[in-house]
Amino acid sequence: MNYKSKFGFGCMRLPQIDKNKASSIDQDLFNEMVDIYMEKGFNYFDTSYAYHDGKSEIAIKKAVVERYPRESYQICDKMPTWALKSKEDNEKFVEEMLERLGIDYFDVFFVHNINVPWFKQAEQYGTFEYVKKMKEEGIAKKIGFSFHDNSELLKKVLDKYSDILDIVQLELNYLDWEDSSIEAHKCYDLCVEYGLDVYVMEPLKGGVIVNPSDEIKDEFKKFNSEKSIASFAIRFCASLEHVKMVLSGMNCIEDLLDNCNTYENFEVLNEDETEFLEKMAKKLKETVAVPCSECGYCVDACPEMIPIPEYFNLYNTSKNQSESNIYRLYYDKLCDEKVSAEKCSYCESCVEHCTQKINIPNELEKTRKHFKDGFSPYADYP
Ligand code: SF4
Ligand code: SF4
Repeated sequence: MNYKSKFGFGCMRLPQIDKNKASSIDQDLFNEMVDIYMEKGFNYFDTSYAYHDGKSEIAIKKAVVERYPRESYQICDKMPTWALKSKEDNEKFVEEMLERLGIDYFDVFFVHNINVPWFKQAEQYGTFEYVKKMKEEGIAKKIGFSFHDNSELLKKVLDKYSDILDIVQLELNYLDWEDSSIEAHKCYDLCVEYGLDVYVMEPLKGGVIVNPSDEIKDEFKKFNSEKSIASFAIRFCASLEHVKMVLSGMNCIEDLLDNCNTYENFEVLNEDETEFLEKMAKKLKETVAVPCSECGYCVDACPEMIPIPEYFNLYNTSKNQSESNIYRLYYDKLCDEKVSAEKCSYCESCVEHCTQKINIPNELEKTRKHFKDGFSPYADYP
């Protein structure tokens, strides 16, 4: 098996000049990373209309399309299902995406983020039929959808459309493998049953897996001091037979090189390692307060624009690490400079959009309570 062909460059979390401004992609650093990635024989770039506020596609155009021959790379892009307002919008978005990327066909094209509301929307506007037509006309070589819901909905989608599709992009990692709300294992089995390839997103669950408590970090070191935590997570996914692609979102050269090394010297996960990861998944679940992957879809749905993933990130950090600056970050950087979590009106617009099935208003309340209760104001301020 050629494991090297499974390493995809996910372009949702590219290096940024201003970490608070998604559109501020560090193009020079990205170009450098692309050169290393391509030079080592990898070639797959995954983007979407929405990533980096629409600038991810343009960054790929500059780093890849304008600098490498078309046949030397593959690009996957995705229809912004949630933004469709009519059947005609399918074509409008595809034309815009092709223009942003500067290409005339996609190697892979997905209907983006299928969950209950967006499946309804894609059905209403004939998006699956539209991507089928794209494939027939050669505008997309392979087609599928990226999926963020449970096995029940997946079965419904596959029953209806599996015969026209090639791929399902699933959230899959060792933390969610047997998780009862994400159901990664069940979803993987369904894709295999329906004869579709599986592409993997969130192998590190948006960083949750590689930022565990110090205790878990020590356990990894004891188990194997030479391999990174990320490399185990990637090998877990890429070792699965029907997984044909694993996306890694990378924003620095160090992470890129670590991933290159994992695939260049790929070893299928053995039994001992699998058992160890099962044990670590259990521990990690006990220590992660909110299993947020920081995908950001909830923020777009929130009328108050509360930076929900940033609150959850801080909550998780404060539970696991003794970060002395944590309250300053909470009160100054989030509540004051951005939008206070107190503004949550419990409208629940965000809930059905959460890719991790988190009860966001409840968890936001816990987050607020955690900081309020644990906080002796300014005690840890320098
Ligand atoms: S429940 Fe709260 S966080 Fe969710 S969309 Fe409504 S205001 Fe925003
Ligand atoms: S709360 Fe859910 S939707 Fe929002 S960023 Fe986290 S995982 Fe994504």
